[in-house]
Amino acid sequence: MKPFPRAEISRHALQHNLTRLRDIAPNSQIMAVVKANGYGHGLLNVAECVGNCTHGADGFGLARLEEALELRDGGVKGRLLLLEGFFRASDLPVLVEHDIETVVHHEFQLEMLAASQLAKPVKVWLKIDSGMHRLGIGIAEFVQAYQKLMDCSSVAKPINLMTHFACADEPQNPLTQQQINQFESLIKGLDGERTLANSAATLFWPQSQADWVRPGIALYGVSPVVGDKGTNHQLIPAMELVSNLIAVRKHKAGDSVGYGAYWTAKQDTILGVVAIGYGDGYPRNAPEGTPVLINGRRVPIVGRVSMDMLTVDLGADAIDQVGDSVQLWGKSLAVEEVAEHIGTIAYELVTKLTPRVAVALLD
Ligand SMILES: *Cc1c(COP(=O)(O)O)cnc(C)c1O
Repeated sequence: MKPFPRAEISRHALQHNLTRLRDIAPNSQIMAVVKANGYGHGLLNVAECVGNCTHGADGFGLARLEEALELRDGGVKGRLLLLEGFFRASDLPVLVEHDIETVVHHEFQLEMLAASQLAKPVKVWLKIDSGMHRLGIGIAEFVQAYQKLMDCSSVAKPINLMTHFACADEPQNPLTQQQINQFESLIKGLDGERTLANSAATLFWPQSQADWVRPGIALYGVSPVVGDKGTNHQLIPAMELVSNLIAVRKHKAGDSVGYGAYWTAKQDTILGVVAIGYGDGYPRNAPEGTPVLINGRRVPIVGRVSMDMLTVDLGADAIDQVGDSVQLWGKSLAVEEVAEHIGTIAYELVTKLTPRVAVALLD
């Protein structure tokens, strides 16, 4: 029997999305962002899936050294970049040993590099704060930071250059073009590869695509924009989160259900109990009315999501049975739509699944 709940990952969807992103950014290499366990889709699964196909990803973006090492241990050969850079001086020899590239975004990293003695120079991407003000070397400090890297024997040349957008998911927001202009004016005439674009910029700001695009969420078939869907961009959602009905119960008008007893049936109905809860990463704050899909129809969550279960109102005429499959999100119920009901973004839903959810790669 198949375990439940489970996240079924479609190899076809991931490869289709990669191809689609190649069409959208035809002159750029693709750094597939697979941090946070491949956005919950399984780090190695995703890397193998989009790395080992024809015209596969040209490299992978990660947030933690441990993630990059897991890819190397799994036999992944392509270029790997730590998007937040290294955290400790002791990371540097590990980067060199495993041929992992690093972002440099802060003075402390410049100092650690200057003080290091490495078997080989490390490949770096200098991150410029062009307006997001989270990570990156400020405009005023750029020339000096760049020079320090040029002078550092632990740093491979040329130095690659990157920035990151704050509002690329808002196609009307002028900040993105300002950030592009800021970045381009600073790096004019310098050698090295350039990357600016996450998924949203890849889709909506083609002038930012440069040498490399860094799509994360779009690779998984999900739109980065609230109110939008991946399918609007001919992307296919790669994850289907499914579980089973473990109880079907007659329920009387006036009876409440679940913890806090705060939902009460207005009329006689049939409730279903689904084996998924916040212990699996399905958000506890999903409100009444959040849809789930059972036997081809949408039914609303009622009552509070508990750790291992949630309850749905199947309706008085329901003929659903214990053991029937339930889709929490997937091709027929967009994760973007579920996220809107819950008041979050699809990124958080897919990333927050817990290890209790079996992740299965299917064709
Ligand atoms: C996570 C991340 C990305 C990918 O972002 P998406 O919105 O998922 O495409 C790209 N670049 C950096 C620096 C990131 O941290």
